[in-house]
Amino acid sequence: MQDTPKTRLHVDSPLAEGQAIGLDHERAHYLRHVLRLERGDAVAVFNGTDGEWLAVIDGFGKGWCSLTVQARRRAQQDGPDLWLLFAPIKRGRIDTVAEKASELGASRIWPVFTRHTDPHRVNMDRLRANAVEAAEQCERLSVPDMPEPVQLHKALADWPAERVLFLCAESGSARPVAEAVRDFAGRPAAFLVGPEGGFAKSELDDLSKLPFVVPVGLGPRVLRADTAVFAALACWQALVGDWTASGGDARPPFRAAEDARGQPI
Ligand code: SAH
Repeated sequence: MQDTPKTRLHVDSPLAEGQAIGLDHERAHYLRHVLRLERGDAVAVFNGTDGEWLAVIDGFGKGWCSLTVQARRRAQQDGPDLWLLFAPIKRGRIDTVAEKASELGASRIWPVFTRHTDPHRVNMDRLRANAVEAAEQCERLSVPDMPEPVQLHKALADWPAERVLFLCAESGSARPVAEAVRDFAGRPAAFLVGPEGGFAKSELDDLSKLPFVVPVGLGPRVLRADTAVFAALACWQALVGDWTASGGDARPPFRAAEDARGQPI
């Protein structure tokens, strides 16, 4: 029987049986002093291409930890093709956006500057760390791709024509989000959420003219930008994304089987 891994880590190394992995100072410290793991303990590792593997701690040293990869737990599977573009918001809330978008399965999380965006800088290292930690915790098989922030018009200049961009528009004409995402089921998708100050009217007008843009409404209330992100991603997942899966892909892996009333068997 396989050991139950004590934690789950995203690593950059290739994963195959017998492969050695060295962890940096921060992760070595986390395993040893925070989780109090020991030599011989098992952890799960994934790298976004080779699936998820069981690895065993070989040893700790001053500022390092080495693991040996043993057996594959899960084959790699592609997650949904769902991008999030969002105008940066203040610290705390932006961290939550990275964390929740990762949990909600976004494949790309991309800060874009719009006319009324307030923060003019984004700490991408911190944002990426939040997204990776969420990916480890929620049992994704990959971490979201997180490009450097750009001006919105730059992100749109090379836009792939087949990807529909749902523009979350707090004003102007927009289709109800559920109706719009259903119409584009099966297409690569992206959501764009504006800053706390909202989009400029001219921005919304210009965006609406682009052939791949579909303005959508998230109901009759004005949502905070972070709330709009979570609502939009959850809506897409529930209607056309991986929340619609059935069978083994419908539930988080490695959980005890339950009967129809949710009781452990
Ligand atoms: N200050 C603006 C609101 C900005 S809300 C105002 O008072 O009008 C921040 C972002 O969340 C918006 O730019 C939009 O992308 C999204 N959003 C908020 N509420 C929304 C709604 N009801 N429908 C669609 N998008 C919404």
